[in-house]
Amino acid sequence: MERRDFMKKTALATSASVVLAGCASDASDSGPPTVQTGGPRLRWRLASSFSRSLDTIFKAAEVLADRVRQLTGERFDIRVYPAGELVPAFEVLESVQKATVQMGHSASYYYIGKNPALAFDCTVPFGLTARQFNAWAYHGSGQDLTQRMFADFNIMNFPGGNTGIQMGGWFNREIHSVADLRGLKMRIPGIGGRVMDRLGVTVQQIPSGEIYPALERGVIDAAEWVGPYDDEKLGFARVARHYYYPGWWEPGPNLSFYVSQAAWDRLPADYQHALEGATMEANMYMLSRYDALNPAAFKRLLDGGTEIHPFPEDVMQAAAESSRELLAEGTSDPAYAQIYDNYTEWQTDADWWFATAEHAYSDFRHRVPDRR
Ligand code: CA
Repeated sequence: MERRDFMKKTALATSASVVLAGCASDASDSGPPTVQTGGPRLRWRLASSFSRSLDTIFKAAEVLADRVRQLTGERFDIRVYPAGELVPAFEVLESVQKATVQMGHSASYYYIGKNPALAFDCTVPFGLTARQFNAWAYHGSGQDLTQRMFADFNIMNFPGGNTGIQMGGWFNREIHSVADLRGLKMRIPGIGGRVMDRLGVTVQQIPSGEIYPALERGVIDAAEWVGPYDDEKLGFARVARHYYYPGWWEPGPNLSFYVSQAAWDRLPADYQHALEGATMEANMYMLSRYDALNPAAFKRLLDGGTEIHPFPEDVMQAAAESSRELLAEGTSDPAYAQIYDNYTEWQTDADWWFATAEHAYSDFRHRVPDRR
């Protein structure tokens, strides 16, 4: 055999064995062989508004990225960056709008300064619960109406996770009536803060890392964050004993995935399908994850001496009234009025149904638990 032929055959044999070895290792290491779509290799960047420490929220974007990679034979690679690494937390929308990054994961109520109606893509005081929001988004007019708003920002938006109803926060003393709120210094951002302001609360804006020392030193009397799982990690129970519920200002905050319209339009149809499906998986992941983690954290907090209290009825009534007034103020703008009317009408019917069957059932289960 000529040396050249030998080299050629050896090279062929080697490449064949590499291919076979590749198949064998696919089959043994990671289940069935990966489907090769033959689509383009893409690398996108996703800017999150959240830090890794909010692991339940941050992870939702990683769930999305992992699934998109799997569905596209690893060809469509989305890298997830925590808040501040590529862009600051509250500039995610702008960054996607300018296509500095192809995707974002954020809360649309951060951007109500750009358009007050963006709140309806996330949550409003006394608004929809997580399940009601998903119903409105996927099966009502929600997705259609919010996508029309986001078209002004050259963004496609998709629901991207929910905390479920939040807690009303930590107070260093008991609240018996609206009168007790006057002059109370509370960390509460967003529209909830504006409502509390109308009830006489001195509203403070404090970043997450500074809430604990502010409570400890008495710079503030109360603070809200998320719910048992996230609140426990920040240690609030050590510096405020009274834990109020419900967090009526965030009854079902929906997070959103933002996709640059230009980047979306360049995606092959099968990549678009993969990405859209993955947003739904991330949405389910985050809510079910919170629902799995909160009960155990709640129990630990109660076992540790935290006292829970419902907000007094007059506080709930006054807050609901102020919220109604505040949300109705935007209706002089026809675009705001359209989404406000649709959301409100949807909620009226949804509340009636949920209060009837769901609430009656869970209320009975709570009052009369069985001891299996
Ligand atoms: Ca909150």
